[in-house]
Amino acid sequence: MPKRRSTTAYVGIGSNLGDRKSNIEKAIRLVELVKGVRLKNISSIYETDPAGGPKQGKFLNGVFKIETTLNPLELLCEFQKIEKHLGRKKRIKNAPRTIDLDILLFGSKKIDDKKLTIPHPRMHKREFVLKGLRELRQARML
Ligand code: ADP
Ligand code: MG
Repeated sequence: MPKRRSTTAYVGIGSNLGDRKSNIEKAIRLVELVKGVRLKNISSIYETDPAGGPKQGKFLNGVFKIETTLNPLELLCEFQKIEKHLGRKKRIKNAPRTIDLDILLFGSKKIDDKKLTIPHPRMHKREFVLKGLRELRQARML
């Protein structure tokens, strides 16, 4: 098989159900185990208010950077397996969740697919995403 090129992607991670810190740590560990994904860096984890949806607890949120040889839909599929594995049951927009993995940026790709929109449409509105991305970009320059 020809070697696939690797792409830098940024991923938003969040949890507002159960042991949030442990959920995030477990998810990160599972991301590290995905074949074709290399974890590069993780931002600080911030506590944030839920945006929309039913009344629910605060989130812990962060952003991490990966290099991947997977394509965006393959990556989404791996992330959804991790969400499921960590006990995420319903896929309802803005509902509380044990873990949420959102692909924010995938190289400079723009995707508008039924299952996948990249850049993530709400990323610019979320302070923790912008903070996290800024942190990871600065880290790269040091
Ligand atoms: P949200 O994170 O927006 O609250 P969910 O995590 O429940 O919602 O995901 C709902 C759907 O969003 C998923 O089934 C997935 O197909 C779709 N989706 C679209 N764009 C993205 C993206 N960039 N990253 C992750 N999921 C996405
Ligand atoms: Mg999501």
